[in-house]
Formats: sequence, structure tokens, C-alpha cells
Amino acid sequence: MGNAVEAIWTHATTRPEAVALRVDGDEWTFGQLRNASQQWAARLLDAGVAPGDRVLLAGGTQADWVFAYHGVLAVGAIAVTVNPHSTEAELGYFLHDCGATLALVADATHDAVAAAAAELDVPAWRLGEGARDLPVPADLPRTVAPDSGAVIMYTSGTTGKPKGAQLTHHGIRGSAQSVIEAIEVTDDDHFGTALPLFHVFGQVTVMRTAYEAGVPITLMSKFDARALLETAARHRVTLLAGVPTMWTAMANAAPDIDDLDFSCLRLALSGGAGLPTKVADQFDARYGCEILAGYGLTETAGAGACPRVGAPRKLGSAGVAWPGVELAIFDTERNPVPVGGTGEIAIRCEMNLKDYWNRPDATARAWHDDWFLTGDLGRMDEEGYLWVVDRIKDLIIRGGYNVYPKELEDVLYSHPDILEAAVVGVPDDRLGEEIAAVIVLRDGREFDVTRMQEWMAERVAAYKTPRIYHVAAALPKGSTGKILKREINRTDVSSRGHRTRKA
Ligand code: ATP
Repeated sequence: MGNAVEAIWTHATTRPEAVALRVDGDEWTFGQLRNASQQWAARLLDAGVAPGDRVLLAGGTQADWVFAYHGVLAVGAIAVTVNPHSTEAELGYFLHDCGATLALVADATHDAVAAAAAELDVPAWRLGEGARDLPVPADLPRTVAPDSGAVIMYTSGTTGKPKGAQLTHHGIRGSAQSVIEAIEVTDDDHFGTALPLFHVFGQVTVMRTAYEAGVPITLMSKFDARALLETAARHRVTLLAGVPTMWTAMANAAPDIDDLDFSCLRLALSGGAGLPTKVADQFDARYGCEILAGYGLTETAGAGACPRVGAPRKLGSAGVAWPGVELAIFDTERNPVPVGGTGEIAIRCEMNLKDYWNRPDATARAWHDDWFLTGDLGRMDEEGYLWVVDRIKDLIIRGGYNVYPKELEDVLYSHPDILEAAVVGVPDDRLGEEIAAVIVLRDGREFDVTRMQEWMAERVAAYKTPRIYHVAAALPKGSTGKILKREINRTDVSSRGHRTRKA
């Protein structure tokens, strides 16, 4: 397999008039997508961008981002895709860390990036200016070695500065082909999403899969449950993709949306975090569309596990390994755990990152032989189904007992008054850690700690029932809408939360 963008050039030749991209109502064909990407490529070559150079791409969801991204890949340079809402200091860090030679920036973010770039003498171009009308070199897309870097995406990890996961052309292309096989994408499919493109889920699992398959993708630059559903119904989207907070919002959208025709929806793809079963059931009951809740990471180009179309479902499972992916569970000594046992999930596949950019130590720590260590706890059954138990770093140890927050969150989500929930450990003198639930109530509902405690006590063992409940107006969320536990202020939760009687 060569350059990851080759598929676009092929589709542009065989079916130039087929719709490739919609963003907030505007539309481009495969022919237009290829031409605009070629123009960006020509402009980059004109500026001296060489294979392997890093080009920072700081933009939200806009057509020029899509064109510039494919232009960068077409010339064999590496697209460093970052959140445009990063602070000036963060942008400066990304530019410096990856050694970018050029920054391509959304207009709204231009000043912050330009300021950071100026310090490093890196030119910053506005994405909104589009590409110029330049002669297109005949050798596009450039041939690349399969293991050459295509993109770098920064992930936060547990501690320290974000690390740039370098994914290869072979890896992102293999990831897209694996999704096509796993969910049986056909020519009649049409992706729809409001996921940000700088993150692996929107960029690789959705956009690159659509272009590898040659089917359209309809994007919304900003998530709004009602608007996304309306757009999906209007444009006859078949494959809707999102993270759990999006499904929660869509499952709870105002009732007038129900008059629309959602018969186009074939499957919904969820990722990024565990999806509470209750939310999946509510969404399916309302829109007649099953959610396949998969598991993947930035470092694996999104690859991991996914339920298979038509295969038996197992409650709470993230499904089986993607095609071309092997999963294993290791104990703390890196020995395989017997079937059914809990340990660290490890992934072996060609989609795995090449390295963390310029971080040989972090790269070495992330591997055991050719297995990538995910930092997540899980277990597998004899049929290869995976259950993601939780992140190792989120595990709560209360009085010596291991408590997995995700298990409790699943229970909390089934409470009729609760819209969203996150369970975290807070420091406790006696027990080391105490279990705290941070919850967002549905509109108009009132909280009563005694009733909540009774309700939980009927459903979970005493040692793991939360002893502190903190009612919040909202939970901190990241760029994809994923709940960010690391940003929950534990001291605040501990001091201001309602304590149960036994506390
Ligand atoms: P950041 O870089 O902001 O720290 P992150 O650590 O969440 O982000 P991502 O690559 O965005 O990194 O997400 C991967 C992680 O998301 C996994 O390691 C896992 O913890 C979580 N995750 C993904 N899918 C699932 C799932 N189905 N169930 C539970 N957790 C999941």
C-alpha cells in the first residue's frame, strides 16, 4: 500500500461527479476534492515543503482543512493535526516539539498560532485563503515508503507533556480498510458526523474510511444534537459516528425531531469512551438504529475492537478485534492473563503508531515486544469478545478494594433523573480513596442523597457504592465531547459534595 491519499485520486478519476464532502450545507465532489488537494500540494511544494517535513494543521471542521490535509499527505509531508482551540502556549509547544516548518491555520485561530509561530520563525498561512491556482506536478500523490509518517496527533497521557503519536501511511490506510471490512461499508453508504477532524476518530475512522471506500461524508463543524439529526435525515446518512456524550444528547433531543424520517440510518458508530447500555437502548428505540460501540486509541490509528454486523451481541462488550488486529490481556509482569481474567489490554497490528515523535523513552515504555500497551484494563472471553473495564489511571482503590468507575457510571446512567455521570476517587485519610459520583441531573429533577444511596445500594455491593455525590451543572469535556475526568476538581467535589449517611 502506498500513499494514503491514492484512493481519492482513483475515485476522482473513476467517478469525479460523485459527492465526496459536505460541510455545514456546502458540497464538493471527488473531482473537486482531488483538485483542491492538488492545489494545496502544489502550493506546499512551491514553498519548499519536502517529504517528511511536519506541517501543523490547526483548524476545526472546514473544507479547506480537508483539502490542505490531503495536500500535505500527497507531497509526503506529515500533517500534525491539533485542536485549534489550544492556547498560544500549547500551540507553541506543538510547533516546537514536532519541529514544524509551516503552520496552516483556521482564520479564527490565526493570531494565536501566528504569535507562537513567529517566535519559532515558522510561517503561518490562513486555511481560509484556500490554495492558489498553480501548475500541478504530474507525480502527485508522491510515492511513500509504507512506514513513513503520515500524521502526528498529540495525546495527553497520564503525566507530563502531550506526546505526538506518529501514524504511518500504511497504518491509517490499513485502519480505514479494516473499518470497511468490519462494518461492511458499501457504495450506498454515507457517513455523517460532528466529530472534530484533528482527532483520530473523526479523521481516520470516519473521514479516511469514507475516502478509502469512495463514499460521501457529511460533516458539521459544531455538534448540536438536533441539527445533526436533521442533517442526517435530510442527506440520507447511513452511518452516523459520535462519542457517548453525543448519543446521550441525541437520545434526549426534543420530541419534535421524531417526525423526521430516520429510515436511512443503518448503523451508528460509537467510540472514544465506553457507551452506557441505557443510552444505546434509548437511541435505538427512538431512531431505529443500532449503535456499535467500539474501542480504539489514537496510537492504534483508531483500531481495536468493534461488534460485528449481524454477530451476536454481548452486553457491555466492545466486540471482537478489528480485522487485522490482535488483542491480548497482560498482567503487571507482561504475562498473558488466562481467559476471563482482568489485565492490561495490548494491541498488535500494522495500524500501531510508528513512535511518539522524538520520545524514544516513552515509545519504548509503550511496547512489550510487538504489542502496544494501551494503559486500559480489560478482559476477554473464550470467543474473543473484549470488555473494557476502565483506564488503569482511573481505577479507584478504596480501603484496599479495586473499584472500577465505569461499572458504577453504567448504573448511574440507568437512573431516571441522571443525564450524565462521572465517578472519581477523592483522597481520604482513612481509606486512601473515597468514591465520589459527579452527576448532571435532567432538567427539573431534584437530588436527594438518601434516596440516591438507597437506589444504588439495591444495585451495587456496599464496598463500591459512592459515598459522595456532587451535583454539577456540566461535566468537563474534551475536543471530541469525551468526559475529562482529569479536569474534575477532586478537592471541590470532596468538600462540597453531599455525603451519604455511612460516610
Ligand atoms: P487525551 O489525549 O486527551 O488524554 P485519550 O487518552 O482519551 O485522550 P484517545 O486516543 O482519544 O486518548 O482515546 C483512547 C482512550 O479512550 C482509550 O485508551 C480508552 O481509555 C478510551 N476508550 C476508547 N474506547 C473505549 C470504550 N469502548 N470503552 C472504554 N474506554 C474507551
